[in-house]
Amino acid sequence: MNHFYLTTTLPYVNGAAHVGHAIEFMRADMLARYHRGLGSQVFFNTGTDEHGQKIADKAIELKVSPQAYVDDMANGWKQFCADINMSYDFFSRTTDTKHEAIAQELWRRCDDNGYIYKKSYQSKYCVGCELQKTDSELVDGMCPDHPGKELELIDEENYFFAFSQFQERLLELYKNNPTFVVPDFRLQEITNFVAGGLQDFSISRLKEKMSWGVPVPGDDDQVMYVWFDALTNYISALGWGTEDQSQFDTFWDQGHTVQMCGKDNLRQQSAIWQAMLMAAGLPNTNQIFVEGHVVSGGQKMSKSIGNVIDPVAYVHYYGLDAVRYFVARHVHDVQDSDWTVERFHESYMASLVNGLGNLVNRVLNMADKYEVVLDVMPQTEPTDHLANFQFNAEMDRIWKLIGDCDQYITDEAPFKKAKDDLPAAQEDLRYLLGQLWIINESIAPIMPETYGKIRVAMELNKKPEEPLFPRLDFNADL
Ligand SMILES: [Zn+2]
Repeated sequence: MNHFYLTTTLPYVNGAAHVGHAIEFMRADMLARYHRGLGSQVFFNTGTDEHGQKIADKAIELKVSPQAYVDDMANGWKQFCADINMSYDFFSRTTDTKHEAIAQELWRRCDDNGYIYKKSYQSKYCVGCELQKTDSELVDGMCPDHPGKELELIDEENYFFAFSQFQERLLELYKNNPTFVVPDFRLQEITNFVAGGLQDFSISRLKEKMSWGVPVPGDDDQVMYVWFDALTNYISALGWGTEDQSQFDTFWDQGHTVQMCGKDNLRQQSAIWQAMLMAAGLPNTNQIFVEGHVVSGGQKMSKSIGNVIDPVAYVHYYGLDAVRYFVARHVHDVQDSDWTVERFHESYMASLVNGLGNLVNRVLNMADKYEVVLDVMPQTEPTDHLANFQFNAEMDRIWKLIGDCDQYITDEAPFKKAKDDLPAAQEDLRYLLGQLWIINESIAPIMPETYGKIRVAMELNKKPEEPLFPRLDFNADL
């Protein structure tokens, strides 16, 4: 049996889910369902990243304890996962005591192997990114991603990770594994970054200045830097470093491992985390799939422009599978994409209401009327589009099948034939039911609820009582 491990990044819990999270999570869920459908045993991880300065600041602002704050936020994220039908196997929380113990164990391994040391240093730190910034990364003395946010000056003795020692090994990893990062232009980007030289970086903070973190093993005065602790979740979810490592052995060591992330996370996932694994003597990830960003109306989303896309509002108005459809078909696999309510509505009406929904109704109406049932289920050939992260191509393939069926109905006109040659019309319907079966099997990982409804309708050989995709008015308020 094949074992397939898949993880989203863990969102930082200082805000609600935005459309970028929805896209990453929905696509991860499609992959998990696809691989289960192929017969693989899948471990699908997601969760929340809950330590660090930004969380501590937010809790102070709201006058609650950091733990109460993250508990509340984690519940919100679990609700979001339920809203978008995430079939995860494990929900990681980085404040979980088991995760904390494992993060400490990973630290110890890296330390035992000589990759952690202590030194005094001064640096500029962007709380917005939770990252140290070098002067060359700043624009007018500010973080370009967080203009107007004062950088924090850090002058303290901290622990450092010997990142610079991994340059050669990382370059070798990239060179020997041409699909280690997908798409290839992101592999090139990280290769260029690592080839440009790596600097060791601080992986702890003084507890008296920032206490909301995992304690550094053997040093009561320091806590771990949030990224070091959070990245460890990918293996803490599998119980690495505990008494029972069987899931780690099965899925990480012997299985195929895939991490998904946005393009702003490329460095952390494909360089820092990989170096941490090497430092601890653990196998690297097999593949990292890097997605683009979403803009709206050609502009970055912002509250002041009023073009922020709220994925949950779309789910409430159009239904979940309409959103999953749009994400798989019209959000570019790897480039930046434009999401507007106009484009969404047009696609909903054309491809779902008048496309798939209409086809299901027509075929099942005729099958019912001419008393044709599908007695032999056609063999469905799984394509490898989703195995290669090609969501757009897979959707185009499926919607081509739908278009071909519409054309077939127009050309053969079984509803006319039935009047004087019923057997010929029945033959057409047998073919159409077979095609509908194939179409439905194909949408299963992408639109699981719709798959279930079509499956039931086909078993009853009647069109669904409720329309799969109701006709809706354009809603400019979304
Ligand atoms: Zn920043």
